[in-house]
Amino acid sequence: MTKNQHIAILGAGESGVGAALLAKAKGMIPFVSDKGAIKPSYQKELTENQIEFEAGAHSEERILSADLIVKSPGIPEKVELVRKALMDGIPVISEIEFAGRYTSKKKICITGSNGKTTTTMWIHHILKQAGLNVSMAGNIGDSLARQVVEDTADVYVIELSSFQLDGMFEFKADIAILLNITPDHLDRYDYEMQHYVNSKFRITQNLQENDWFIYNADDPIINKEIEERNIVAQLAPFSITKEKGMAGYVNNNQIIINLKPIVTMSIHDLSLKGKHNTQNSLAAGITAKILDIRKENIRESLADFQNVEHRLEFVAKVNGIEFINDSKATNVNAAWFALESMSNPTVWIVGGVDKGNDYETLLELVKGQVKAIVCLGKNNEKIIEAFSGSVDVIAEANSAMEAVALSYRFAKNGETVLLSPACASFDLFESYEDRGAQFKTCVRAL
Ligand code: ADP
Repeated sequence: MTKNQHIAILGAGESGVGAALLAKAKGMIPFVSDKGAIKPSYQKELTENQIEFEAGAHSEERILSADLIVKSPGIPEKVELVRKALMDGIPVISEIEFAGRYTSKKKICITGSNGKTTTTMWIHHILKQAGLNVSMAGNIGDSLARQVVEDTADVYVIELSSFQLDGMFEFKADIAILLNITPDHLDRYDYEMQHYVNSKFRITQNLQENDWFIYNADDPIINKEIEERNIVAQLAPFSITKEKGMAGYVNNNQIIINLKPIVTMSIHDLSLKGKHNTQNSLAAGITAKILDIRKENIRESLADFQNVEHRLEFVAKVNGIEFINDSKATNVNAAWFALESMSNPTVWIVGGVDKGNDYETLLELVKGQVKAIVCLGKNNEKIIEAFSGSVDVIAEANSAMEAVALSYRFAKNGETVLLSPACASFDLFESYEDRGAQFKTCVRAL
């Protein structure tokens, strides 16, 4: 990358501002453009660093005269401006791709339809407890680009969404982790599952023989793709259903990290419960082993990691009714694992913005586990249609308060109320965090 290059940055969130700071630090001329508003704190930071920016519109001519565009993952490739840029031959990359060009530190990258944040934080926790100079990036905390300005960490643990991956070309992980692939965000992939699968598999691009690819061997889509692709990295599959050839597996309620010296630990000692978290712990444990973390450290950190907010988070017990906030379950598969881990009759709060959901896979679990459904969305027809043959009580709520009041009425002592919406939140809430926070406030006010 040459000095004085003009770089246009679309989107002034944490990744865009980080990219601007890094571009500036490397002698380039960044211009940040956001179609919406820019947070005052970011405006201040850009001004202080003498970085030009605009809010409320994209100045097309200026952007299309740039040598390089860094696009926020939130902006679809289909928007007119991005299409024009691509047609003009301007490279359009993501912030992680950009940042990756300026650091040679070790990069552990995590993707999957579900479990990215949990696994990223779990790995970070293990490495940090073991004394490594490690930092998290991706959707969590400071952007990678911002951190690469000083580049003080020795290891980055990076959560990668498919949208980030779509803008990545030369970036190389040292350890790549693929947790699962189930339908999500299909609206951004022309409702073509294979496009979404290809996006996820970009995490393996550029891996070399000495690098590692850790993946979930219980996932049929991943298995099929691996057979068809030529991945040269060392493979470390994990499974909760089979043992042969696995780098991590479960036997007799023990997790086994099968890289010498072998680590074993009871699944009951894992701090996070549910099969999905056993999978996450296997991915995290294998990563730690590859990095030669001592087994005592691995066991300790797998046991004392604290759950992340809005992911199967226990909120309170009110009159013997347990309330659980799983607001981050924004797709069907995440809700499946939540329902699967319920051991009591459950009132299930579900709904929001449908991303092309197919509820078929949930029917059996719902029949066995759910005594009542409270729909929490503006348009609940699809949910009502899917489950009316399986659950007797289906009610609709327009707010978190109403949903909590209804479910409190339906649940009895010893039962559970689970918010696990399987949908995005933007119809009634600002974000999944807002949805979870409102739910918790209402529960605590009961
Ligand atoms: P992501 O960052 O990929 O969205 P999170 O760790 O934030 O993943 O978890 C999102 C949702 O998925 C939560 O409801 C959580 O309980 C569930 N989940 C976590 N790990 C897994 C997994 N390995 N498979 C399926 N669902 C999972």
